[in-house]
Amino acid sequence: MYNPRSLKAEEFIDHQEILDTLAYAEAHQNDLPLIHQIIDKAAGCKGLTHREAAVLLLCDDPGARARIFEQAAKIKDAFYGNRIVLFAPLYLSNYCVNGCTYCPYHSKNHHIPRKKLTQDEIRREVIALQDMGHKRLALECGEDPVHNPIDYVLESIQTIYSIQHKNGAIRRVNVNIAATTVENYKKLKDAGIGTYILFQETYNKEQYEALHPTGPKSDYAYHTEAMDRAMQAGIDDVGCGVLFGLNLYKYDFVGLLMHAEHLEAVHGVGPHTISVPRLRDADDIDASQFQNGISDALFQKIVAVLRIAVPYTGLIVSTRESQKTREMVLPYGVSQISGGSRTSVGGYADGGEEEDSSQFEISDNRTLDEVVHWLLERGHIPSFCTACYREGRTGDRFMRLVKSGQIRNCCLPNALMTLKEFAEDYASPDTRRLALDMIQQEAQTIPNDKVRDIVYQHLNDMDGGMRDFRF
Ligand code: SAM
Repeated sequence: MYNPRSLKAEEFIDHQEILDTLAYAEAHQNDLPLIHQIIDKAAGCKGLTHREAAVLLLCDDPGARARIFEQAAKIKDAFYGNRIVLFAPLYLSNYCVNGCTYCPYHSKNHHIPRKKLTQDEIRREVIALQDMGHKRLALECGEDPVHNPIDYVLESIQTIYSIQHKNGAIRRVNVNIAATTVENYKKLKDAGIGTYILFQETYNKEQYEALHPTGPKSDYAYHTEAMDRAMQAGIDDVGCGVLFGLNLYKYDFVGLLMHAEHLEAVHGVGPHTISVPRLRDADDIDASQFQNGISDALFQKIVAVLRIAVPYTGLIVSTRESQKTREMVLPYGVSQISGGSRTSVGGYADGGEEEDSSQFEISDNRTLDEVVHWLLERGHIPSFCTACYREGRTGDRFMRLVKSGQIRNCCLPNALMTLKEFAEDYASPDTRRLALDMIQQEAQTIPNDKVRDIVYQHLNDMDGGMRDFRF
């Protein structure tokens, strides 16, 4: 039954293959020769199979664990350096016809204020986000064909891209909307979206159906096959994820990697990003009522094993996680984080004054400037880069660049130039000072002489007010 090349959800996410993988991993979780052989393979930076990764996830040997973390940190450094890309979610509407039992936007929640932004309100939100320094957004929206049809999402994207405010502009809009048709994915592609993001929530069909009792999202196959439709429509950067806490973490970890293998086998390119959200308390949701929560230590291990299993895939950690947890996982593979986020509809412009329409509680409530300051202090380069997709480096073209290591001559310059924009236009004096020191120090390490000279030139031109240089 298991067939990674199949287009049928239940064949590429075959339940029996997941159970067999977990049985294999349990049988080998103390098999140190095998475990070290798998870690050696990971050191070649070519990734791991879902079975190999499952063995590493379950092994408890302290020596092996230390090697896994060491390897994850090395791979992170080799492909992503010390850069961390920043983004913010923008909630367009919380009208939703689905019955997701873990999400406060479910249709039976009659007391949460329902809101949908008008184009003018979107403008206000985007200006507030630009005033913070954001250049990259993730659009979030409930599923409701009447209130939030695809035309509303498309119009909103157009509005966002059209806003020029002071020196700012949103340059990349990623989209996290419900599974849809090939035709609608084509429209999103034509609207110039960055990544199409859709969390699977859980790969376990039985659990999935229990957690999504009503609404269009209850169709497991339609949801699970969404990335294939998106890719068929020409969107070649897709972002996967599961919501940890809903189902047994091991099951979903294996499912996530099988999904990545399937996309690679069928479309020649795996997911552009993987997100690792954990369930949070929300309006009428008590996360402690769900039996599958995972500890911080396990969360950290999931991040590290994902890093070495899919070295070319970006890893995203949101403000669902606290500063402390983010500190725990950043060195082991995370490449993107959100900052200064609000999960309510209209939450940026209203400053949290309005009735609370938020999707879940945020654990990291710092401002974007504070997040940037913290990253700099810890030796990371905060990056607002959006160059790749604007230069056509998406899908396998992006992957080829990462695999060849050439990304260092693009990403580092882009990170430094966008950090300089942030420092000049938005940073507090203290953050600005740290940023300029970091830029000076890191610019010297750009490997290619010619690229380095151009970067110095662009950095100087920025002092004269020039913006948006990119490689
Ligand atoms: N309507 C789209 C869909 O169905 O995929 C977008 C969903 S929502 C705006 C984005 C994500 O938030 C969901 O996919 C889910 O994983 C996550 N989410 C929902 N409730 C949550 C909660 N209580 N805590 C943490 N994350 C939650």
